[in-house]
Amino acid sequence: MSEHNIRPFFQFKRVKIHSFGISRDAKLTQVKLEPDRRFLPICSGCKKRVHGIHSYEYRAVRDLSMIESIVTLILHYRKVRCPDCGIRVEYHDFVAPYARYTHRLAQYVFELCKYMTVTDVASLLHLSWHQVKEIDKSELRKRYSNPDYSNVRILSVDEISIRKHHHYLTIICNFETGEVIAQYNERGGHTGVMVPVFTFGPGAEKFQGIQENTDLFFKMMAVLGITPDD
Ligand SMILES: [Zn+2]
Repeated sequence: MSEHNIRPFFQFKRVKIHSFGISRDAKLTQVKLEPDRRFLPICSGCKKRVHGIHSYEYRAVRDLSMIESIVTLILHYRKVRCPDCGIRVEYHDFVAPYARYTHRLAQYVFELCKYMTVTDVASLLHLSWHQVKEIDKSELRKRYSNPDYSNVRILSVDEISIRKHHHYLTIICNFETGEVIAQYNERGGHTGVMVPVFTFGPGAEKFQGIQENTDLFFKMMAVLGITPDD
């Protein structure tokens, strides 16, 4: 197969396909990638173009499989001497510095892990259990480690008892979307954790400051003008 034919599958920026080979049984495909020397390398630290090159290195990077053939990229890359960051691996849009798998393979693993066990995904893609677990964890971290709560308007707090009152879970939720924002586990009793309370409308000022959770009930009754029976 000529290089021309496979190029659409590997539209990575700042690299050129140097060579391409398939094993006799078609189970392994290897794509050698060279830096595209028309462009200056980019520092992965500050994303600026840099002139200084420290060294040339090779790294094997797993990519998405083609039909049933395991694809490995042999990436010839540079370490750059950045005036701001020091010695750094050059930036690529398809793989993180030092990573052994492409972003698109990581994305695929993450999607499969929603529906299959880690063991099944590992066996399907010929990866180790630990690789799949690591990819899934780091993709989760990427997506959810810095959640944006700036649009949250109403919080709800609930305490749930699981397994017949021996295990309690306090859940803080975005009331409008149902998204769980925080949870707190407590075994053997109700939690003593402080929970924020937001009130709107007439009587809202009665709920200011720190209060006992049971007082909320009586305060709400008072605001509604109801006298609870003893
Ligand atoms: Zn830099």
